[in-house]
Amino acid sequence: MEAQIAFKERPEGGYCKCGRKAVFSRKYEGSYLCKHHFCLSIEKKAKRTIRQHNMIKSGDRICVALSGGKDSSAVLYILSKVLNGRKDIDLFAVSIDEGIHGYRPESLEIAAKFCEQLGVKHRTLSFKAAFGKSLDEKMGEVAADPSMRIRESCTYCGVGRRYLMNRMARLSGATKLCTGHNLDDEAQAVLLNYIRGDLFRASRMGPVTDWSIKKESDSMFIPRIKPFREIPEREVALYAILKGLDIHMDECPNVGGIRFEARDFLNNLEAKYPGIKFTVLETFDKLLPAIRQVAEGNEPRLLRCRICGEPASREVCKTCELWRL
Ligand code: SF4
Repeated sequence: MEAQIAFKERPEGGYCKCGRKAVFSRKYEGSYLCKHHFCLSIEKKAKRTIRQHNMIKSGDRICVALSGGKDSSAVLYILSKVLNGRKDIDLFAVSIDEGIHGYRPESLEIAAKFCEQLGVKHRTLSFKAAFGKSLDEKMGEVAADPSMRIRESCTYCGVGRRYLMNRMARLSGATKLCTGHNLDDEAQAVLLNYIRGDLFRASRMGPVTDWSIKKESDSMFIPRIKPFREIPEREVALYAILKGLDIHMDECPNVGGIRFEARDFLNNLEAKYPGIKFTVLETFDKLLPAIRQVAEGNEPRLLRCRICGEPASREVCKTCELWRL
């Protein structure tokens, strides 16, 4: 859907610096780009982010969280190009089957085929196997029980997915967990953490989330890297299409809630003031050291969950609480 928006914006009569007809007008830079230079610019941006933040080093074993959508497929594609058969770095992908009828099965099929094409090892984990029920089944229970305080499917989904992905990455010996988060995702997260007053979560944002140096219990969290955090969503979508990647374009039927209102709000601002999403993220990055200092004094003590043994800020972790493990 986003990619179609990008195509609609194909500039009439614009030309790239190389003289070729442009396929994209990058308003915040005031530039026109042909297919070749557009794709090159995306790859350069991702490589620069990886280099600037030392995201990858020799000996790393990188687990890519792959949904089959544009962001995670494009990040896996670029990583496999950047690493290009390096023997000192291992790359593999993991997908999560939440159990969303009419949506997830197709994307999982695409993800598996894509990994086969790239020659990347791939594994799928399901909510049903891990938690005893799919997301659809869980939401059926929630709908039938008025006493359940938390009613949004995205909360159950996000908590379960983060839990399984981190656990799987750690048990597979991964040293980094790579996600396809783009500029839009990051700007939305900045805004939401601010609205919710969640300093602790805000303090864990950034290009690399590596808290393992701080505490022993934190070493149970695999550092996350986000090579696309400075690339707008529509540009990732256009890149995936121009490169001919087989991606899943449908939107989850459960989509909704405050995150999506934040997305619309930022998109409206961006249309009026090109580059505003970058400003949101840049300002946040400048404030991050101060946010971490404040959060450090107030952060919850990390324990091990009494039920599953995973890291938790209370006696029982959020996943066991929500999924009643
Ligand atoms: Fe999960 Fe919500 Fe995303 Fe759907 S929209 S995949 S339910 S987090």
